[in-house]
Amino acid sequence: MDVTQLNVDELFQKSVVWDAHCGMDPQVPIDVNSLERIRKAGFTFVSTNAGYDVLPWHETFPVIAACRHFLKENTDKYVLVSSVADVLAAKRDGKLAVSMDIEGISALNGTTDLIETYHTLGVRQISFVYNKDNLGGGGCHGDNTGITPFGRDVVREMNRVGIIVDGTHCSPVTSIDLAETSSKPIVISHSNSRVLHDHPRNIWNEQALACANTGGVVGITGIRIFLTKAGDKTSDIDLLVRNIDHYCELIGPQHVGIGTDFAEITNALSTRFANATDYWPPEHYPAGADLGFVDIEVFPQLTAALSARGYSNKDISGILGGNFMRVAAANWE
Ligand SMILES: [Zn+2]
Repeated sequence: MDVTQLNVDELFQKSVVWDAHCGMDPQVPIDVNSLERIRKAGFTFVSTNAGYDVLPWHETFPVIAACRHFLKENTDKYVLVSSVADVLAAKRDGKLAVSMDIEGISALNGTTDLIETYHTLGVRQISFVYNKDNLGGGGCHGDNTGITPFGRDVVREMNRVGIIVDGTHCSPVTSIDLAETSSKPIVISHSNSRVLHDHPRNIWNEQALACANTGGVVGITGIRIFLTKAGDKTSDIDLLVRNIDHYCELIGPQHVGIGTDFAEITNALSTRFANATDYWPPEHYPAGADLGFVDIEVFPQLTAALSARGYSNKDISGILGGNFMRVAAANWE
């Protein structure tokens, strides 16, 4: 697609707009309101989470089942996709393409056998660790340990069946180990820069560089506590652009994308935070504090904001989704 002559509105309409991870709470019933807002905001694709280490591993399956059921009941608006060809067909048909991801390999219950099963059910991306060290490696709130021998087996099996390896929520060492172990491009699907804002959920430059060296993509994410310190009045869009500028300068615009982490679940999460402080240490997730989920409708504004800053249409289209789609093609096919 030649995008060079398009105006800002046309560029957004013609581009594949890829949300590498929304923050839908993985429980039944699934959060269809958030999915609908993502669709209405003009996204082409979203990866929605079906489980994470905080919950017992087997609770992942009812969420996957509910998600599959909802999508099959609403084929006028949504489609569960298996391939990039499916995503492009959804774009042509004006539907939101959806696949699922899991945050943390505790969902494997200690065996690589389950990876192919998850793939069969529609999971196309797994972030290795969720904040706290698990059987595969270190979490961003752990002791900065690296990947384990089991973790290496998991990467090999994910590469074989076609599930994207995601270094989000991992320790710095583990995310770099993932990049060095994977034979396919990896992603860090929803992590802002720790150089710009020193929160442990954010990533250092070395992690972004390791991801990009695989041909991979880092996704900027829309939660205020990962964007800036409390009390900062800078607008959401300016904070997102600041992260895009940083990553583009560091690793090049072809390695930058969007992982919104969007969901309408702030209150539910506050309760969960209080009950699982080993996953969300209170010093980094203060009780009762507003996490500040950036509205999904803000992300389309990136098109005009990046254009005004001199980004080329080709680079903007890649950041909106073409870059993540390239990684998906390399992993899924
Ligand atoms: Zn996450």
